[in-house]
Amino acid sequence: MHIFIKNIASTLLDFIFPPRCFLCKRDGPVLCTTCLATLQPLSLPRCQHCHTVLMTNGTCRQCREHPLRLSGLRTFSTYREPLRTCIHALKYEGRRQLAEPLGRLLAEAYSNYKLRADVILPVPLHTSRQLERGYNQSALLAAACAQHLHIAYRDDLLARQRATRPQVGLSLRERSQNVTGAFEPTRTFTAATKAFARRRILIIDDVCTTGSTIEACADALFAAGARSIWGLVLARPDTG
Ligand SMILES: [Zn+2]
Ligand SMILES: [Zn+2]
Repeated sequence: MHIFIKNIASTLLDFIFPPRCFLCKRDGPVLCTTCLATLQPLSLPRCQHCHTVLMTNGTCRQCREHPLRLSGLRTFSTYREPLRTCIHALKYEGRRQLAEPLGRLLAEAYSNYKLRADVILPVPLHTSRQLERGYNQSALLAAACAQHLHIAYRDDLLARQRATRPQVGLSLRERSQNVTGAFEPTRTFTAATKAFARRRILIIDDVCTTGSTIEACADALFAAGARSIWGLVLARPDTG
């Protein structure tokens, strides 16, 4: 559907149906406090570097087989219901309003994990996909998160140079190959390179599995001398 038609449709829907909780349908905020509580993560033993759930022997399979070059990766929660439904609706059903409460959860995770960043960036979507969808769900999440934390937000530093296949169903090696070199610094980035040297950067995405996409984004920023690059996502499958 065309972006303008989508916008008009969503405004009309708000008018016909007053705001109510996306999950329980009671009148009130987009996600009510009761439903927000159901999104809270389970406390599972996770790797201090990549946040993968540890194996029963206490070791991290990802760090052993495919260690991330990122300074570290954190996930708000496991990819499970009802968070999965919320992310799906934000990403594929035009429910942009969900970005605000979900972005707030990311901000809470940032504080709980004691992350420190000078600037927050989203994983860019390829232009063709963004035109088709009308928005980048990661950018909406990252902007909401940055606003809650009063941290600078930039969505003009990286661009997706080519559309990539969905990562779903690909092996670890294929995922990495699929996204390597997919991101490039924009001209704004090049001009600002010195400004980003020694900065702490946080890259936000909705979901990740191996972290390959965030790593592909981070490569260019590391080359520019960023001091640290962390990834923060809403959800990550426990296996995969
Ligand atoms: Zn609710
Ligand atoms: Zn690990």
